[in-house]
Amino acid sequence: MNRHYACITFDFDAMSGLVARGLTTPTPVSRGEFGAVALPRILDLLKRYDIKASFFIPGVVIGTYPRECEQILAYGHEIGHHGWTHVPPANLTPEQEEDGLIRGIEKIRELTGAAPRGYRSPSWDLSTYTVELLLRHGFLYESSMMGNDHEPYRVRQGDVVSVDEPMQFGKPTPLIELPISWTLDDFPHFEYLRVGQSLAPGLQNASGVLENWVNDFEYMRQTCDWGILTYTCHPYVIGRGHRMIMLDKLLKSLQEKGAQFITLEQAARMYDERSLFHA
Ligand SMILES: [Zn+2]
Repeated sequence: MNRHYACITFDFDAMSGLVARGLTTPTPVSRGEFGAVALPRILDLLKRYDIKASFFIPGVVIGTYPRECEQILAYGHEIGHHGWTHVPPANLTPEQEEDGLIRGIEKIRELTGAAPRGYRSPSWDLSTYTVELLLRHGFLYESSMMGNDHEPYRVRQGDVVSVDEPMQFGKPTPLIELPISWTLDDFPHFEYLRVGQSLAPGLQNASGVLENWVNDFEYMRQTCDWGILTYTCHPYVIGRGHRMIMLDKLLKSLQEKGAQFITLEQAARMYDERSLFHA
């Protein structure tokens, strides 16, 4: 029997992503603050479709919005690790990275009563140490890489990357990758962002993005019997009116196409059973 899964995921960054880019003045802070306003809309929409989603939350945001995070949990959604701050691991020292990882795990444990099973790096940029740290701290899966579209895989360790020599691939580890893509992330399509001399224009028409997102699921359905497609949204981005209408239409279209909605943790466990790890 064909199985096509969709994982609806949210990175509840609030202002942490903007603050990590040095945007600490009142207006960018308020921009992230809107995430807490949008959250109840999103939780209601997911409930209407009876969908359990995965929410990745930086430790500082759990501390800023404890009640909102309890709400996410009360609706039955998964809570995953998204750093202590929103500074990407690639910009941290190994000590800072491990310290943040541990602090984030403890903050989630306070909230949910258990350590998170999944990790997603802020701004999708792992350091060369991240995989080792995730294995050391007992993570089952991670979701920040783009090496496949709708098929999970095992994360490698020990790659040797050089500009002028062929790539040397390392060995697979037990850590499961649930791949993502910027094309299936709301942020680059929709957010107008100016930092220093760089400008991300965003502000795309939501109907065009919707068409792409539905077609990626359709392509998976047409080309394989089994697959998992992961969508990534941010409450302060997707929570605007026309985008909420888009999200509603997306869930409806996926449902009509026979999608089964699961959390990333469920997806990782399913893949783990299907593709046993051999060292
Ligand atoms: Zn984020």
